[in-house]
Amino acid sequence: MKLPHHLSIKNGHLHLNGLDCVALAQQYGTPLYVTSEDRVCEQFRSYQKALSSRYPKVRVLFAAKANGNLAVIRALADLGAGADVFSSGELHLALDAGMQPEKLLFNGSSKAPADLRLAVEKGVKVSVDSLDELYQLDAAAKAAGKTVEIAFRVNPALEVPTHPKIATGLATSKFGIPHKEIPAAYRKALSCKHIQPVGIHCHIGSQILDVEPFARAAEVMVRIAKELTEMGVRLEFIDLGGGLGIPYHHDTDPAPTPEDYAAKVIPIFKAGVEACGITPELWVEPGRSLVADSTLLLTRVNSTKEAHRRFANVDAGFNLLIRPAMYDAYHEVIVANRADASLTTEYTVTGPICETGDILAHDRKLPGLVAGDIIAVLDTGAYGFAMSSQYNSRPRCPEVLVRGDTASLMRRQETIRDITATMECPPWQR
Ligand SMILES: *Cc1c(COP(=O)(O)O)cnc(C)c1O
Repeated sequence: MKLPHHLSIKNGHLHLNGLDCVALAQQYGTPLYVTSEDRVCEQFRSYQKALSSRYPKVRVLFAAKANGNLAVIRALADLGAGADVFSSGELHLALDAGMQPEKLLFNGSSKAPADLRLAVEKGVKVSVDSLDELYQLDAAAKAAGKTVEIAFRVNPALEVPTHPKIATGLATSKFGIPHKEIPAAYRKALSCKHIQPVGIHCHIGSQILDVEPFARAAEVMVRIAKELTEMGVRLEFIDLGGGLGIPYHHDTDPAPTPEDYAAKVIPIFKAGVEACGITPELWVEPGRSLVADSTLLLTRVNSTKEAHRRFANVDAGFNLLIRPAMYDAYHEVIVANRADASLTTEYTVTGPICETGDILAHDRKLPGLVAGDIIAVLDTGAYGFAMSSQYNSRPRCPEVLVRGDTASLMRRQETIRDITATMECPPWQR
């Protein structure tokens, strides 16, 4: 199997950044998420380079929902990244990680009054998803005696080749304002006293392995930019969203790079903004493609079973990685302690959760397994821990960050105490 260069196999063991994953599993216990900080930084730099070598004003915003660990966000903040935040919680994380408010965009199709107040208070730009929200935001800004800079989230009505649950730019999606209604929305925004429209925003979906749809989205966005510029809107940024996919099937998926993305999209973008006579910043919001392949989920085989098929029962399930159950997602798996053994036996790798759907990997050829073997689930840095739960009252596992060949906890293991900490005993039970 093809491996990215931060992963390697030495003496039969899988290594990350040169560190033995079996030793990490022994030291920290399983299940365990392990992330290469160097890999995250490398991916960020490749975006920055691909875009800024073709266009002078570029901003890369990390989609914080993909990986909400402060240490990961801090590593990106240190490189100058901004963030696309989708909740007040993500906004706090980004600020705590050291990102300046002007580098943040507050997204979301259903913001609560408290979200809008927080955005106003912190001076963060807001991607507005409806006219109702526009007027609420105007009122919140008025109450605070401030002006808020906004973009509207455009629904470009594009078909995108990905899983339907992560296609966000379809005409029928819940996100954004239909592109035909966008000029009218900006006209309304211009008439709001405490709103300043400064950008436009779209995000067409996730795990897109072809750069063509991004080019189509860019065409729609620069067409709208022209109309808005003629209307008198002074666009300071055009945000094309995130969505570049990664090759979860290492040997067969196409692997579009930020370079491929930039080579396709930037010429369209440049020609478009030149036609408007403006030089706005180009913003992108990658999540998955920055962090997914940086991370392994290490899980121990509790038992094996021969039934209608052969099962490997491991200690991580959809409580820690829901993507296979939720999106039928595929993740490569490697037996970390026998990584160069021949693949002789077919296993379905199942978690400890009380649900038939708790399957991490279907019918995979692996070496013959025994209890105690360590399985590495690859490419789990995006929408992995971030979507975890305590279902079945399972405390969440720790996360380790590796920089160079040094490893350190970036999140401790939860305990049963953490699970019960927020529970209250009603008075009649005391
Ligand atoms: C989820 C999301 C992203 C990131 O998507 P990826 O596929 O992880 O790159 C970017 N922008 C918005 C608005 C999103 O909702």
